[in-house]
Amino acid sequence: MNSSPARPPINWPAVIVLLGTPLAALILIPWYAWNHDFSVAAWVSFVVFFAWSGLGITAGYHRLWAHRAYEAAWPVRFILMLGGTLAIQNTILFWASGHRTHHRHVDHVDKDPYSAKRGFWYSHIGWMLRDYSSGTPDYKNAPDLLKDKMVMFQDRYYIPLVILTNIGFPVALGLMVGDLWGVVLLAGLLRLIANHHVTFFINSLCHMFGNQPYTDENTARDNFWLALFTWGEGYHNFHHIFQYDYRNGVKWWQFDPTKWLILGLSKVGLTRNLKRIPAFTIRKAEVAMKFKRAEKHLATYGHDMHEDIVQMRQKIAQEYEAFSATLNDWAKLKEQSIEAKKAAVAEKIHQADLRLKTEFQLVEQRMLEHSARMETMMLNLKRCIRRHANPV
Ligand SMILES: [Zn+2]
Ligand SMILES: [Zn+2]
Repeated sequence: MNSSPARPPINWPAVIVLLGTPLAALILIPWYAWNHDFSVAAWVSFVVFFAWSGLGITAGYHRLWAHRAYEAAWPVRFILMLGGTLAIQNTILFWASGHRTHHRHVDHVDKDPYSAKRGFWYSHIGWMLRDYSSGTPDYKNAPDLLKDKMVMFQDRYYIPLVILTNIGFPVALGLMVGDLWGVVLLAGLLRLIANHHVTFFINSLCHMFGNQPYTDENTARDNFWLALFTWGEGYHNFHHIFQYDYRNGVKWWQFDPTKWLILGLSKVGLTRNLKRIPAFTIRKAEVAMKFKRAEKHLATYGHDMHEDIVQMRQKIAQEYEAFSATLNDWAKLKEQSIEAKKAAVAEKIHQADLRLKTEFQLVEQRMLEHSARMETMMLNLKRCIRRHANPV
């Protein structure tokens, strides 16, 4: 039946962990629940362990180690490392190096370890169940991690640490609160499965469903619903274009608890050097994407355009010219600001800085206006097309 070439060998440890645990949960949890009640302490420990392992991956494995989006004091790194170990998603070194490859070769069928182009199952979990060549670790992209003592400590003692966090901690906590099996089943087993799949949704669903407000050059999407379950990682379209930003939900109102945690810890000196992409650059990407979308809408229609649509097209072209002028002015200001910094006359620097600051603000304001006008124009264009257009 299957004429495809031989499949790579099965990765048994991954199969046992990733498929064995849901199977065990399916039998043990209903059976236990039938005979006993889970204590409140068991449910609370489920929530705490779910948060700890989830944030260990998002704030630790992902934003701290894979992207170096901020720096953290060692107690924070230690707690995140333990949380990530609790999540059983392989070592920091393996995870972060593979993730850097994912960003570098996103969507490439042979180079992206969890390419969404290979379908839901593969990008969600399939990529881990066999030893695919795209998943073979290559730590050339992680020289910083090879020098990181915390990362290498975890790498060396990974199995004992997995046993300590996933068996030792739930057993100890269960004995303490007097509900050994309740805590082991909920905070140990059920939490592990939940944590696995919400993380895997980022690689699968977040490359399939949602919006693309910043770029359509890859499959990554922004998805609020996924952000809700993934500690803010659902804003994956933003993340793929600006991977070094410590925020994934970049707008202040976007649900990103990982961002709040990192920012909160910076207020008490436990994290520092939080990387932020300048607001102008982010807005520029958004406006450029709006132009691209308008162009696509217009391209659907041939020469036989209604006059209203022709007018809309002209307006958009004018706006595009103004947008290009804004970008030019911004580039010139950047140059001037570099020159000003080099200027020898120290007392004049302050004056020049003030002038440049005002001019930067004006250009930033212009970019905001482009964004607002394009928003309105897109709405009008869609309305116009619905009313008059005659698709070819
Ligand atoms: Zn991705
Ligand atoms: Zn990433």
